[in-house]
Amino acid sequence: MARNLIGIDLGGTTTKMAFLSVSGEILTKWNIPTDISDEGSHIVPNIIESINQHITNSEFSKDDFIGIGMGTPGSVDIENGTVIGAFNLNWKKRQQVRDQIQAGVGLQFILDNDANVASLGEYWKGAGEKDADVVFVTLGTGVGGGVIAGGRLLHGINGGAGELGHVTVQPNGYLCTCGKRGCLEQYASATGVVHVAADMAKDFMGTSRLKEMEDNQESVTSKMIFYLADNGDILANQVVDRVTFYLGLALANVANILNPANIIIGGGVSNAGNTLLQPTTRYFQENAFPAVRDSTKLRLAQLGNDAGVIGAASLALRFQKSN
Ligand SMILES: [Zn+2]
Repeated sequence: MARNLIGIDLGGTTTKMAFLSVSGEILTKWNIPTDISDEGSHIVPNIIESINQHITNSEFSKDDFIGIGMGTPGSVDIENGTVIGAFNLNWKKRQQVRDQIQAGVGLQFILDNDANVASLGEYWKGAGEKDADVVFVTLGTGVGGGVIAGGRLLHGINGGAGELGHVTVQPNGYLCTCGKRGCLEQYASATGVVHVAADMAKDFMGTSRLKEMEDNQESVTSKMIFYLADNGDILANQVVDRVTFYLGLALANVANILNPANIIIGGGVSNAGNTLLQPTTRYFQENAFPAVRDSTKLRLAQLGNDAGVIGAASLALRFQKSN
């Protein structure tokens, strides 16, 4: 009987893949570079080749696998197994991903949006601890999110559910890539934090290493800003205060609607740990109403880069019965 799953986490530079047990333990994992040349036409064939190669070189045969799940950037049509508008993959036109992979590997295949899939990973094996009500926010180059309510991942009527990155935190604020203004993504993503720092440095008059760096046009990263904040830099602390205010406000408003057990914060910016979590929690509590404030917890993600492949693999659990 088939006991294993395959998870794929497709990203703009790297494609992560893994074989997992049916209980979500990673048996083996590997990466291939994502070749986005020629309108991304090599991406799917490369995935097929790599999976087939790894099955051949493993102790398993194809019959040992229940199916394949994948997380991808872009807008996903789960029903039809297609992706469109994944600009970091050069996938501008609709891509028929499912049919190609099912034909190329010979296993059942399902895909979902990458942030949704990371949410499922944390829900299943990470900080979510299988609570049926979990919200996940990922602070990376952009801000993504996923909502699991009553044990179900929410998609909405057009795949837009759980897009926490586009919650408005500053009316008439920074212009977002979505065309709207003041989205959380423009403040709490890695690039957003840097943008906030550049703006706040202009008006800052005190002594600060961050101010010096901005004035000298040195390259500044969000990681540096949190590091400087940790080490007492006044401007860096003001930046972190502003960013965590926006994040805490957005998460409180989401929690005021959903009252999840946990809101899990992941992505590169969350590596700042308590420097991010503590002030965010303070602003969250200020903006959450009592029933929510007393029950919903903010937590850091636990799976790091593995959340994608683990969550992706969990999608394929639905093929278990039909096999
Ligand atoms: Zn937006």
